[in-house]
Amino acid sequence: MKTLVIATHNAGKLKEFSPLLAPLGFALKSAGELGLPEPEESAPDFAGNARLKALTAARAAGLPALADDSGLSVAALGGGPGVQSARYAGGDYPAAFARILQAVAERGEARAYFTAALCLALPDGTTHTYVGEAHGHIAPEPRGLGGFGYDPLFIPDGYEQSFAELGAEKERISHRAKAFAQLAAALRAGAINF
Ligand code: IMP
Repeated sequence: MKTLVIATHNAGKLKEFSPLLAPLGFALKSAGELGLPEPEESAPDFAGNARLKALTAARAAGLPALADDSGLSVAALGGGPGVQSARYAGGDYPAAFARILQAVAERGEARAYFTAALCLALPDGTTHTYVGEAHGHIAPEPRGLGGFGYDPLFIPDGYEQSFAELGAEKERISHRAKAFAQLAAALRAGAINF
C-alpha cells in the first residue's frame, strides 16, 4: 500500500479524505501526525495555495502529499471572500453572511460559486492540480442546518435548496466532488508516476 500524506493539520479533512482514498489503495497520514511544517497560504488563488501546501508537505516528508484549498467567490464582492473565505469577518459566519447579503442587496447581483483545488505533489517537486467549481447564487437568507461554512447561503444552479439543505446530494454535486473525481480518474488511469 502506498502512503499518501494529507497536507492538513485539520483532523476533519483527514476524515473526509479517508473514505475517498482508501478504496484507491492508499494509507493516509496527516501532516499534523507527522509534525510537518504548515506554510502560510499566501498564493492569490486556490490552485496556488493547494500547490504550496502539497509541495511543502511532500518535500518535508519525502512522500507524495495531497492538499486542498477551497472557498466561495461572490460576484457582488468582486470575487471575495475567495481565498480568504475561512478568515472573512474574522471567521465569524453570521457576520460574514450579513456582509455578503448586504453586498448582494446593494449590487442587485447574487451570482456566486465555490471552488475546490486539489494538488498532489511528489517529493521531486512534480505537481498534479485539479480544480472543481460549483456555480449558483446567494440565498435571500441563510437556509438549512446541514453542511458547514457558507452552505446555508449557497443555492446551486438547478436546485431550489441551499447546500445546507441538500444533505448527501451536496456531496455528489459539490466543487470538492468535481475536483476529487478528476484526481480519482487520474489515479485509476495510472496517470501519476509515483
Ligand atoms: P480552506 O480550509 O482554506 O480550504 O478553507 C475553506 C473555507 O471556504 C471554509 O472554511 C469555508 O468557509 C469555505 N468553504 C469551502 N468549501 C465549502 C463548502 O463546501 N461549503 C461551505 N463553505 C465552504
